[in-house]
Amino acid sequence: MTDIDPRTVPSLFTRDLLALAQRDDFDRIETAVERLAGCTSPIQLTGHTTTLDATTHEVLRHYTTASEPLGRLLVACGNRRATRCPACSRTYAADTYHLIRAGLSGGKGTPDTVRTHPRVFTTLTAPSFGPVHNRPTTRTGKPYPCRCGNHHRADHPALGTPLDPATYDYAGAVLFNAHAGALWARFTTYLRRAVAHNAGLTTAELREHCRVSFAKVAEFQKRGLIHFHAIIRLDGPDGGSTTPPTWATPDLLTDATRHAAGRTSITITGDSIGERELTWGAQLDVREITRPDATADGSTPLTDAAVAGYIAKYATKSAEGTGTIDRPIHCTLCKGRGRIPTGGGLTEECHRCQGTGLAEPIADLQVAGHVRQMIRTCWDLGTRTTDFEDLNLPKWAHMLGFRGHFSTKSRRYSTTLGHLRGTRRTWQTEQARIRDGRPPIDPDTTLVVSDWRFLATGYNPGEEILAQTVRDNRAATQRLRREGDLK
Ligand SMILES: [Zn+2]
Ligand SMILES: [Zn+2]
Ligand SMILES: [Zn+2]
Repeated sequence: MTDIDPRTVPSLFTRDLLALAQRDDFDRIETAVERLAGCTSPIQLTGHTTTLDATTHEVLRHYTTASEPLGRLLVACGNRRATRCPACSRTYAADTYHLIRAGLSGGKGTPDTVRTHPRVFTTLTAPSFGPVHNRPTTRTGKPYPCRCGNHHRADHPALGTPLDPATYDYAGAVLFNAHAGALWARFTTYLRRAVAHNAGLTTAELREHCRVSFAKVAEFQKRGLIHFHAIIRLDGPDGGSTTPPTWATPDLLTDATRHAAGRTSITITGDSIGERELTWGAQLDVREITRPDATADGSTPLTDAAVAGYIAKYATKSAEGTGTIDRPIHCTLCKGRGRIPTGGGLTEECHRCQGTGLAEPIADLQVAGHVRQMIRTCWDLGTRTTDFEDLNLPKWAHMLGFRGHFSTKSRRYSTTLGHLRGTRRTWQTEQARIRDGRPPIDPDTTLVVSDWRFLATGYNPGEEILAQTVRDNRAATQRLRREGDLK
């Protein structure tokens, strides 16, 4: 390779890669890109970090990005969304899988005995806001046509969209999404009450005997409405490490879950919509999560691994299934207000959005009609009325009103994503230390002084080719693993 003059190579990417490949430190550049596991848009940082002895202030270690081959450090973007970064979203899915799995089967600091606790997997859906195109089946599973008269294919774009958009309750639909988090919170309160009631205790007494732990993910249905998948577990008084009382059975938990879901409602009022009651949909699925060693009673057992797999999959899907856009729609300059303060309490029309408050007209968004109408309803309810100011609907219009987190869990469910990421980072730092033959550092007797600056996002052209090679290799490995050639 050394006898090619990079300047004579026509492609910018190849030229840049050849220039990199001719450097003495090319292997370090390769390793740095490999570590990012194929991240689409890594963050470039410059800066330094110094570790000092806390008492003598002697410099124990100094790292500066000036010592890197290209004078900067690449860090994976860490984005959860598969549309933004497939590689980092896979890492996120894997981390989510491990933390959900730990809460079901133990591990990562949670004892193995949690698998003997009563556990259910439940799905809380949204109610109907008007008839939609669907693929109905009879009780025996025989398909019959949609109300529009057609048999829709499973991937038909009309599925989940209203039969009659003019009469569909769009305000109700986006307000449901906006209150989904609050409905969930209310559901957990009722659930604790129902568990206590079934055990013949008061809610205050329950806390001394039993704790209800959760992990949940939100997912958009085709009709653009949020629904939740949740794992609910009964523990002893101090969470997963303590044995639940003997009365805590899967049947008691299933019954309490059904009862609480049926009772949950929130009443909202506004001049523009009158009074509305928001509840879960009638479709309620509660299934016991079986222990791997439990004997099957003929029904398909729902195992720890299967549930953790579902949750991890939903956690990265987020809003993508609905085909909505992945960024807010308001103008960032005027924050959607359409006007900018000019001092002395005066304002002028925002020049970027011409006073509309929108980054681009809603009519120009590259989305299906039903999603557009959900977005428009959020915008209109939030900007034309003061009824729902606290919901900040314009800001969450791209999420069709939903402003909650896609995956959450109660504190005692299992480990946290932050902890898993920290472990991975520590592991990498530790590997680097061993590689360089440096002594271990005691965090109690040292001080760390750091200064980091954001430089840019992305790779340079040569690194981009290396990153693509990493992605290709990973895809090939996955394919082989699926085909059973690799373990
Ligand atoms: Zn990434
Ligand atoms: Zn139809
Ligand atoms: Zn503006």
